[in-house]
Amino acid sequence: MRKRVIVVGGGAAGLMAAGRAAECGACVITLEKENSPSLKLLQTGNGRCNLSNLASAQELTQHLGPQGRFMRNAFVQMASPELRALLARLGIQTVSDELGRVYPASGRAQDVRDALVRYATGRGAELRTCAEVVGLRIDASRVQAVQLRSGEVLTADAVILATGGRAWTRCQAESSGYALAAMAGHTQTPLAPGLVPLVVREAWVAQLEGISLESVTLRAALSDGHSLEQNGALVFTRDGISGPAALNLSNRLALGLRGGPLGMTIDLLPNHTREQIMHGIFVSQTNNKLSDATNNLQALLPRRLCQQLEALLQPEMPGQHLSRHQCERVISLIKGLSLTVVRTRSFREAMVTVGGVACEGIEPRSMASRLCGGLYLVGELLDLAGDTGGFNLQIAFSSGWVAGSAAVVA
Ligand SMILES: Cc1cc2nc3c(=O)[nH]c(=O)nc-3n(C[C@H](O)[C@H](O)[C@H](O)COP(=O)(O)OP(=O)(O)OC[C@H]3O[C@@H](n4cnc5c(N)ncnc54)[C@H](O)[C@@H]3O)c2cc1C
Repeated sequence: MRKRVIVVGGGAAGLMAAGRAAECGACVITLEKENSPSLKLLQTGNGRCNLSNLASAQELTQHLGPQGRFMRNAFVQMASPELRALLARLGIQTVSDELGRVYPASGRAQDVRDALVRYATGRGAELRTCAEVVGLRIDASRVQAVQLRSGEVLTADAVILATGGRAWTRCQAESSGYALAAMAGHTQTPLAPGLVPLVVREAWVAQLEGISLESVTLRAALSDGHSLEQNGALVFTRDGISGPAALNLSNRLALGLRGGPLGMTIDLLPNHTREQIMHGIFVSQTNNKLSDATNNLQALLPRRLCQQLEALLQPEMPGQHLSRHQCERVISLIKGLSLTVVRTRSFREAMVTVGGVACEGIEPRSMASRLCGGLYLVGELLDLAGDTGGFNLQIAFSSGWVAGSAAVVA
């Protein structure tokens, strides 16, 4: 008899799981609480959908933080070559850029969403919208059915929880998947906004709003004495910093910030040595004017940023000419502009959720629950958060694929 599989959540992970389970011969129903599936997918990559990354399975895990190894087996089963081949069969050609990021050739996230819906429904899966699951019926440590908010109860041989995380609450109401997982005995690590701008104490950053730098190195000091380093592009915002370097760092700082503000430095010119900068901005070892140095610096950094650096240095360098020591101090500021991170922006603006259902309770080859028979957990619901660059959708697709395959044979 055909297995009856219920997928809870019609996002990237859920549609992939539904398509795969249907392809493998199951009778599949996908239940999505919103009136349209995968609303978040439409927002990804600024509407272009950075759906994967060319990195190998091993490299992919290195972009997922401390739990990354959990996904290794799933990535071996499906990484970007397999995903791109599947999308090609569904009529979606993909392209990659110099950073290995993979996008649909059309540049439209909607095409990816529509292809995933076709993948699921074209293989016979039923897709129901406005269908929120509020409970699991579990008997003898095995899931038997799901209960909808309408009161309807649907029986199942297997249930795949693909309810996403707490991030980006502006486009859909918060996921109730954590409560569903808890009903099956799963524990959860603390949740925090991830891939989210950092808010700093220094009010003067507002003067820099909109300035972007192609390459900086951020260094943050954690309260336990460890430090974190992140390279990449940066954008100053009205209250702090954003851009890939800051967003990636936010995944690692999210929980550390609960202990209070954290010190951070920005190396504004990581590809220049101190000596190179010294030669570039000072005419001699001594007797330089601060204003001349910051003018010269405009060859390397945006004018507004140079003016702000001058404003920061002016009070401690009131004299006409700079001493050797003061020249060194100017370079130190360029190589280590200090900021104090007080918090991240909220879940409303976060792209992913840091923390989630603890991976220890899940079998990594199949995404099956170790605690409740017939239950599978996938996607952002899990305690996994990737860097920017297509890693988060790859988590969703790979885990969904693995669970969809396994739910049919278990
Ligand atoms: C603005 C933005 C841009 C992003 N860009 C990228 C990018 O370019 N590349 C990348 O890799 N990642 C990106 N991400 C992250 C990526 O979108 C997510 O990691 C991914 O969508 C997670 O997939 P998911 O299926 O696990 O969860 P979701 O996509 O959130 O899907 C979960 C679904 O479950 C439904 N649901 C929840 N609870 C229930 C319930 N009880 N009953 C029924 N349905 C329920 C939700 O309505 C939702 O449709 C971006 C995120 C944001 C917010």
